[in-house]
Amino acid sequence: MSQSEVLFEQASRYIPGGVNSPVRAFKAVGGTPVFLQSAKGSRVTDVDGKSYIDYVQSWGPMVLGHSHPEVIAAVTEAIGAGLTFGAPTERETILAQMVCERMPGMDLVRFVNSGTEATMSAIRLARAYTGRDTIVKFEGCYHGHSDSLLIKAGSGALTLGVPSSPGVPSVLAEHTTTLNYNDAEQVRTFFAEHGEKVACIIVEPVAGNMNCIPPQPGFLQALRQVCDEQGAMLIFDEVMTGFRVSATGAQGYYQVQPDLTTLGKVIGGGMPVGAFGGKREIMEHIAPKGPVYQAGTLSGNPVAMAAGIATLSLLDEADFYPRLSEKTGQLMSGLESAAAEAGIAFTTNSVGSMFGGFFTEEKTVSNYQQVMACDTERFNRFFHGMLREGVYLAPASYEAGFMSQAHTHEDIEQTVEAARKVFATL
Ligand code: PMP
Repeated sequence: MSQSEVLFEQASRYIPGGVNSPVRAFKAVGGTPVFLQSAKGSRVTDVDGKSYIDYVQSWGPMVLGHSHPEVIAAVTEAIGAGLTFGAPTERETILAQMVCERMPGMDLVRFVNSGTEATMSAIRLARAYTGRDTIVKFEGCYHGHSDSLLIKAGSGALTLGVPSSPGVPSVLAEHTTTLNYNDAEQVRTFFAEHGEKVACIIVEPVAGNMNCIPPQPGFLQALRQVCDEQGAMLIFDEVMTGFRVSATGAQGYYQVQPDLTTLGKVIGGGMPVGAFGGKREIMEHIAPKGPVYQAGTLSGNPVAMAAGIATLSLLDEADFYPRLSEKTGQLMSGLESAAAEAGIAFTTNSVGSMFGGFFTEEKTVSNYQQVMACDTERFNRFFHGMLREGVYLAPASYEAGFMSQAHTHEDIEQTVEAARKVFATL
């Protein structure tokens, strides 16, 4: 028995399914989850001492790679001064300023502890500001596990076959309308009839929870337009894309400005952080300035802020994002040619350092239906083959992959070499 198997068996005695977040359990791909011991740069090491090139990167936060020395030093220094005070600290302002200066659509920002909290709070604010209840989301997009948003959701909810979770009251579910990602015409039609009831559209500007689906040209612009016409708020959920696809998020990358933005992952540099923010006039409705209540014992935690500040400071290098994209491009073309050599139908998508691979005959994959039609059984064999070869991919076919700045060209060559071997066995 491997040490991972031993630990998983023990974990399952005390933790539902042995994990604290469902997709970690390897339920979709089968087998025992790998228990990790440590991580450095592009690599993670498991409890049995095996090292892997890691393209999960903790599901997105580690854009610098694991255990970056400057981030670890900043965190260590913060820890020495105390773990939490529940009172304002200067670090909160420093990180808030960094975020607002970089994100075009954010004048004010409130820090929370997770992406779930960020989207839940942004929705409440949008409803309060507009005085309307209906929210519009897209099938296969995941915005955390709050009640209103756990409807036709992506990520683990999709993987486990419960995109709409039991336990969500129907009175809440009926206020969430789910439309098709990348179908601007459907959005226009819906708004023509129901637009005056809509508080907000919430969207992943690059969908990363149904594998990786970039927005089609004009899609985000169409959302902006219908919201403007009908007085609804446009919320970009940039928990995944923020500081990942560009220095100014997807909103800078695609030049579409939302009313509200949610962030998480990268801004916490590996610590539990989320944030929501937007136009001053809207954000001033949040307590204590305004009446919309939102709070958190550990929000703006000094250790988390320190990790965020150190991380964002390191992203300012002029060629940071071009270098990341170039590496992602190298990996995508390497995987595509390795698959072609083995006669395996395989298509890739990527934006910046977010990417996805699809086992499908289709040359472009741009919507949920196409994702659902992919060969998941083949993905599962690919996943396990890659794991054996020392490459750690997300253990489900509905997740995006992430490149970090710590990945080297040699790591990528090694990954492509591993894929070449595995494709040949599929
Ligand atoms: N929004 C998006 C786009 C996400 O990808 C995620 C998590 N993967 C969330 C929200 C929820 O964030 P958290 O897991 O930190 O609650």
